[in-house]
Amino acid sequence: MSRTPEATVLRPPATLAVIGGGQLGRMFVQAAQRLGYRAIVLSETEDGPAAQVAHDAIVSPPDHLPGLLALADAAEGITVEFENVSAPALRWLARRRLVRPGWRTVWVSQNRLREKSFLARHGLPLARWCPVLSAGDLADAPGRVGLPLILKTAASGYDGKGQVRVDRADDLATAWASLRRVACVAEGWVSFAAEVSVVAVRGADATALAFPVALNRHERHILDATLMPAPVGPIVAQEARGLALAVAEALGTVGVLTVEFFLTAEGELTINELAPRPHNSGHLTIEAGVSSQFEAQVRALCGLPLGGTDLVTPAAMVNLLGDLWSGGEPDWGRALAADPGVKLHLYGKGDAAPGRKMGHLTVLDPNPSHALARALEARARLVRRP
Ligand code: ADP
Ligand code: MG
Repeated sequence: MSRTPEATVLRPPATLAVIGGGQLGRMFVQAAQRLGYRAIVLSETEDGPAAQVAHDAIVSPPDHLPGLLALADAAEGITVEFENVSAPALRWLARRRLVRPGWRTVWVSQNRLREKSFLARHGLPLARWCPVLSAGDLADAPGRVGLPLILKTAASGYDGKGQVRVDRADDLATAWASLRRVACVAEGWVSFAAEVSVVAVRGADATALAFPVALNRHERHILDATLMPAPVGPIVAQEARGLALAVAEALGTVGVLTVEFFLTAEGELTINELAPRPHNSGHLTIEAGVSSQFEAQVRALCGLPLGGTDLVTPAAMVNLLGDLWSGGEPDWGRALAADPGVKLHLYGKGDAAPGRKMGHLTVLDPNPSHALARALEARARLVRRP
């Protein structure tokens, strides 16, 4: 098989594939299907969120050759829903099929050491950080980034997993041991005023667009609520969107790329991390956007015009974590009856473990803080009273 030219356009009903079977894959599949594509998924489980709605599922770990062979056989365009796909696997696929984003974008954003080095090399703003690869690095970290600091594993962290806050130098060794002394980065604690993110999309012809800035609130290091557009003023908004586009350009990304930022009280932005894919903070674009972040992912993959990234209306989203199930199945009827404007998304996950993302609620409202208040109110109504 020969390499697919960059200018290739995949038209419906071509078959598209997503590597990864979670909720992001599910929403990619749904967007692809709406545009008339067939969509399949490479998933570790047969009945995961994406496999449930796809035309077909190949059950395989993301780096297994038989699974990749089956994927290359079945799909003309391939994308990812998470960053933990190996660069060799993506390069192997890209020799056979259109793969977007390419291996380099995924490879840089799957490892915090590579990510931070890359951003620093391109002069992009970062909070203080240093690599921790040895006991010597660990001992030096407080001097380089200050205390408190956060020790984060270089690879495979998500939703606050693989990170520990360290307040005293005496606690460093125990903290690193709790992360099994794997390669880490130490980051200085950022006393941010807010966290914001920008979803950007870049096409094969290098045209690039950014969605409006999202304002994100985290609980226990997990995204809890987002509102868009973030009330950060036009200068910060333009700067954040400009930085997201600059990162996508520097990486040569074709596809969707999300940039998470810390914003200080003085209005200074530093980049926290990258994701080579749609992001939890962009879910509300499904209802509120001219087109959604998932449609953007489909369009960029297929070489179609990128579509609009403006909002039709401001909106807010709140996550539904497994904790909501602790007193039994949430009371969907009560939450939905109280506010007909509430949009419920459930991802079809069986096991409602604490901290697990099971679904989300979106509310559209001309006033974004009203949207957030309504979404929070609806979520509060989900909890069954004893
Ligand atoms: P994940 O991959 O789990 O999203 P992040 O690096 O984004 O990892 O960290 C999750 C959350 O933890 C952030 O959104 C933020 O709320 C908090 N956090 C992370 N790093 C720092 C830091 N250096 N200073 C203060 N808070 C932080
Ligand atoms: Mg994050």
